Amino acid sequence: MQNFKDIIAKQRDGYEVADWEIADFVKGIASGNVSNSQIAAYTMAIYLRGMTGGELVILTKAMRDSGVVFDWSNLDGPVVDKHSTGGVGDLTSLILAPTLAACGVYVPMLSGRGLGHTGGTLDKLQAIPGYQTEPGVDVLKKVVTEIGCAIVGQSDELNPADRRIYAVRDEVSTIESDALIVSSIISKKLAAGISNLVLDVKTGNGAFMTSYTAAKKLAVKLTGVAQACGIKSSACITDMNQPLAYSAGNGLEVKEAIEFLTNTRQNTRLKEVTIRLVSELLIHTGVCSNIICAEDKFNEAIDSGRAAEKFEKMVSALGGPSDILTKQGDYLPKAAVIKAVYPKEKGYIHAVDTKKFGRSLVMLGGSRKNMLSELDYSVGISEITPISSEVDETRPLAIVHAKNEDDYHAVANQIRESVTIAAMPVSPSQPIIDTIKPANQA
Ligand code: URA
Repeated sequence: MQNFKDIIAKQRDGYEVADWEIADFVKGIASGNVSNSQIAAYTMAIYLRGMTGGELVILTKAMRDSGVVFDWSNLDGPVVDKHSTGGVGDLTSLILAPTLAACGVYVPMLSGRGLGHTGGTLDKLQAIPGYQTEPGVDVLKKVVTEIGCAIVGQSDELNPADRRIYAVRDEVSTIESDALIVSSIISKKLAAGISNLVLDVKTGNGAFMTSYTAAKKLAVKLTGVAQACGIKSSACITDMNQPLAYSAGNGLEVKEAIEFLTNTRQNTRLKEVTIRLVSELLIHTGVCSNIICAEDKFNEAIDSGRAAEKFEKMVSALGGPSDILTKQGDYLPKAAVIKAVYPKEKGYIHAVDTKKFGRSLVMLGGSRKNMLSELDYSVGISEITPISSEVDETRPLAIVHAKNEDDYHAVANQIRESVTIAAMPVSPSQPIIDTIKPANQA
């Protein structure tokens, strides 16, 4: 016990903490020997003092080793994942995983739930009846091996130290620490046994990192620690100054992903970000040597229907229906009230307060106020009109899917207030702002 107190004191006072001390502390977290108060004090000391690069790498590896680490040596292709820092209408994972699987790349994607204005991939998939988001390690291994991708939640066996640390961080306001964010994200990817990672670090008024500088700093840390731990990675800094897709809401985003995968309708900003993230992975796994090859592979996977087929097979293997591509309308829940929202005045969409826009999903019951909130998978917003488009009394800002008229009116007002209208069109910011790679990565 004394030893844990000493480690916390060293971290608190800004002394370098030895590798073995960090490893012992994390082992103590996983075994239960370190108390929640000690975790709280340790994370607060890290929050206030930061960590050296070396300490951060040791913490990340120790968290990985607190549970099961996947071994994918049975597979005949690279094993990869993507991580997004979270946004509104960000359904890239639902397209990226099956598309990569169709390109011969394996994707054991460990996703999270949404909180507040940002959505979570697991919540989206839970809109599909029967889909098991926590199927256990053996099912995950089987589905990835047989189909090529599985999007599931983190199981209890994987990185138990992160589970405890994250829960305490949430209670004591230490979520917003770069070192703790980086160790939490990268240790889970290490435990998943991947060799390559692409990070989608969002910036803008709907992102956690509102400024480009903060997003870049996080991207540099994430890719640097990934590299030091043996994962080849790159990070795209992408724009979150407006929702990324036409829809925000769990069932609605699954519908849009199916439309994208079946080539029925593809939002251009969503396509640009997804194709870039997929290309980064195809290039650093060596599947492609350049961007032209990567984009061709992406388009071919979609146009041939193979990416859509992978999605359907993954859904079915994880307990969902076997015909989601053709019968999504029968399976995905529908809201009772579906009505358009028109602007207060006519003109062109000049800007969107994306956080405020995203909060409408919380108001509708489609995203969580806190981790205990129950979700309504049918509600959300569709046909979200992008920046620069003309809107008036016949061309709406969006369509709201609500469980009743009161919710519709409250959200319609919120959407009107989150959109600024101007007399002339503006050029929207580019969806991809920058790409970051570790300095000495090949
Ligand atoms: N996502 C994680 O997995 N961990 C964090 O700390 C923040 C985002």
